[in-house]
Amino acid sequence: MYEGAIQDLIDELGRLPGVGPKSAQRIAFHVLSADPTDVTRLATALRRVKELVRFCTTCYNVAESEQCRVCRDQRRTDEVLCVVEEPKDVVAIERTGEFRGRYHVLGGAINPLEGIGPDNLRIRELLARLGTGTVRELILATDPNTEGEATATYLALMVKPMGIAVTRLASGLPVGGDLEYADEITLGRAFEGRRAV
Ligand SMILES: [Zn+2]
Repeated sequence: MYEGAIQDLIDELGRLPGVGPKSAQRIAFHVLSADPTDVTRLATALRRVKELVRFCTTCYNVAESEQCRVCRDQRRTDEVLCVVEEPKDVVAIERTGEFRGRYHVLGGAINPLEGIGPDNLRIRELLARLGTGTVRELILATDPNTEGEATATYLALMVKPMGIAVTRLASGLPVGGDLEYADEITLGRAFEGRRAV
């Protein structure tokens, strides 16, 4: 449609999740008319996130050092471990202020249609963490949709024989949705009311 740099930008923006062709065009023209300082700041933020952010070697949350902020926090308990799909779910749960344990980020959910099986997720790493015997309760906080439920069921089957209490967030979360879209109060209540599976 356009030529050169502006079309390149529209194409790149259009590849982002949730950005359709019209939004891509609107953002591209916004960038074109924006203050150069603002654009430089955006470009720097994009570059820095790839240079600086990595995954925590313990829980696979995003981190800027070997371990993430949650894993470095000495005041948290090692006895309760909460399994989530993505780093954004850690943020959603942290916002509730209900949880003082540790996390394990799987990197997705079991989804046979997209070819994602247990081996594609950080389940082996989870079982290794549980093998040390410190964790007494494992909270399954995968998304309340088909893939999240399948993942929770799979993990419960794997972990229960290890003698660890396995719990799932209470109902009340929007079914079929994504954990991050639940408001803090609903998610906090689901946490408090978690049940054994
Ligand atoms: Zn961590």
